[in-house]
Amino acid sequence: MKDIRTLSLEQLQEYFISLGEKSFRAKQVYDWLWSKNLHSIDQMTNLPKPLREKIALEYSIHPVSVDLMQRSSDGTIKNGVKLHDNLMVESVLIPTDTRSTACVSSQVGCSLNCEFCATAKLKRMRNLEVAEIVDQVALIDRQSRLYFNRPLTNIVFMGMGEPMMNYKNVVAAIHKIIQPEGLGMSARRITVSTSGIPKMIKMLADEELKVKLALSLHSAIEYKRNEIMPFSNNFPLTEIMNALQYWYQKTGSIVTFEYCVWQGINDGDEDIRALIKYCRQVPSKVNLIQYNPIGEGKYDQRSTAAEEKYVRELEKAGITTMIRKSRGGDIDAACGQLANKTTKNEA
Ligand code: SAH
Repeated sequence: MKDIRTLSLEQLQEYFISLGEKSFRAKQVYDWLWSKNLHSIDQMTNLPKPLREKIALEYSIHPVSVDLMQRSSDGTIKNGVKLHDNLMVESVLIPTDTRSTACVSSQVGCSLNCEFCATAKLKRMRNLEVAEIVDQVALIDRQSRLYFNRPLTNIVFMGMGEPMMNYKNVVAAIHKIIQPEGLGMSARRITVSTSGIPKMIKMLADEELKVKLALSLHSAIEYKRNEIMPFSNNFPLTEIMNALQYWYQKTGSIVTFEYCVWQGINDGDEDIRALIKYCRQVPSKVNLIQYNPIGEGKYDQRSTAAEEKYVRELEKAGITTMIRKSRGGDIDAACGQLANKTTKNEA
């Protein structure tokens, strides 16, 4: 049966009119679906029971469900989230003293092939639907209220998948998340993280969504980046920079570069110099992400000494730099570790 959440407000209106009902019913249903995140047509209590039954003959709701919830010693909660076709993604709640951040997935598996990332080892099975993305946010919001006594404060598209490869649904989901008639959260607290697809970065800039942008860089030296992230052969660093400059002109929002430092890979002075040169071309800051080993040999040694050198040199060059602490490592919830150890997605 078709998921009623694939209908827009206008389509819901047409549907109710076709049933001989008043069009305000559409608004009521939309509110249950997108503001209250209700997963049962039967519980739409401001609709007459016969009408609820009539709708249920034609439509269902495909909710996601938490299959396995793990709590890290640092408070991080990792959810193995089951989709209606039994595929799994992972969604993480990362608490700090003042924030609750949801790290959400955009694809089952990933289309890209970054050598150091566990998700990249999975086959991309499919893109997530709009409602499947919104459901992750709503469920983590509920967890945040339950376990940390506060609503969700931030959302990062840094779970499984490449958001720009599921562009249409990610943007539609962001609309549902920020609409007052939807979850009503602030766009400024949403970060879309991408491996860097220039055309899509420009397209996102044109949406005027007010979200933030993070770019997974890892090296500002072309041949090295191509080794670390082989798909980027198709996307030269100059083209990415061009798109980032466009992003900044359009949105006025500074870019965050995400960057891991690995021993013997990008821990040299020339790597730091290249990064500084690259950063200077667009208003930006750098997040050095502590690498979480995934047992891939070559990338398993992060270099703390080099990380500190990066911070010193970047700060000297006037570039704001943070070392982002890894969270949830003990439950494989940290960056790049989302690879469904719990349930396999093998077709
Ligand atoms: N595909 C998107 C979003 C998902 S990854 C992107 O690439 O931006 C979120 C971040 O985690 C990216 O910056 C990615 O480079 C980083 N990452 C991947 N594997 C990691 C690992 N094992 N340790 C630390 N960071 C990792």
